[in-house]
Amino acid sequence: MSKHKKAVVALGGNAITRPDQEDTIANQFANTRKSLDGIVELARDGFDLVITHGNGPQVGNALLRIELARGKAPILPLGVLVADTEGGMGYMIEQSLQNRLRKENINRPVVTIITQVLVDRNDPAIENPTKYIGQFYTEEEAKEFEKTRRWRMKQDADRGWRRVVASPKPLETINAQIIKKLVDEGTIVIAAGGGGIPVYIDEKGNYEGFDAVIDKDRASAVLATEIGADVLAILTSVKKVAVHYGTPQQYDLDEVTVTEMRKLFAEGHFPPGSMGPKVESAIQFIENGGKMVTICSLEDAQMAVHGKAGTRIIPD
Ligand code: ADP
Ligand code: MG
Repeated sequence: MSKHKKAVVALGGNAITRPDQEDTIANQFANTRKSLDGIVELARDGFDLVITHGNGPQVGNALLRIELARGKAPILPLGVLVADTEGGMGYMIEQSLQNRLRKENINRPVVTIITQVLVDRNDPAIENPTKYIGQFYTEEEAKEFEKTRRWRMKQDADRGWRRVVASPKPLETINAQIIKKLVDEGTIVIAAGGGGIPVYIDEKGNYEGFDAVIDKDRASAVLATEIGADVLAILTSVKKVAVHYGTPQQYDLDEVTVTEMRKLFAEGHFPPGSMGPKVESAIQFIENGGKMVTICSLEDAQMAVHGKAGTRIIPD
């Protein structure tokens, strides 16, 4: 058993690709390096650490490449694309962190684990896909792809039509115990990138992947429970979670009990595509015995884990 404090740190999509920048690998590397400041400080503070990360923009790019290469290179299923981004982004985070730790004389190994995550094949979310992925299309194209590619298409605001895929709930991280062992030995593990590769168990007992994506905050909460983490830190683009967000009545939350958070969630303060899954994941982690969740900005990570920034969700 490790005597150190354990944290799972979830890096939001904005950590690596910023909407206001040209999307190049050089920029992705530069942003990755910057996003690691808080993690390096936590490593110095002696935390055992798991890093998880989003992959929305990267999967979007991968889907675009498939479109452009249609008829020339094979179509890849979503599970394989998630695996590819777990590898590519994991490599960038791993190497950037290794170089930083070496520079700062912190002697900790770093490893990336391509992570499969178990979901329920009968999860109601599978019949009702809600997660937008990839490019925008015209209504005509959308109707055509529903027939020819069997995609589910939906209108995304007034911007056009997009493919929607299911976002089933993660139940269990395959290899959670291996991740736990590594973390308890002091290795910094990068895992569950993009929420992990969704798999189910078929009639014969085999793992089988399918076309869906798992929310990275939900997957992070499941993994945090499995490895017995004390803290789940969800790093995103806002400093704090707000009530009445985007209205004149808006106010920020500093410290909230899980019961208060459940009430605010039920009142509809946290939309499904953004803050909702973060708050739900926070509630779930605390209900399962976690000590603290912080939802905070990338820059505030270290302070927030020490309870001095961000929004803290704590047991009653
Ligand atoms: P990430 O890429 O980190 O998962 P998201 O864009 O999915 O980030 O979620 C964070 C965003 O949620 C914020 O940038 C903010 O615009 C939005 N948001 C929605 N509701 C709230 C709220 N109640 N408090 C704070 N931010 C909110
Ligand atoms: Mg998000």
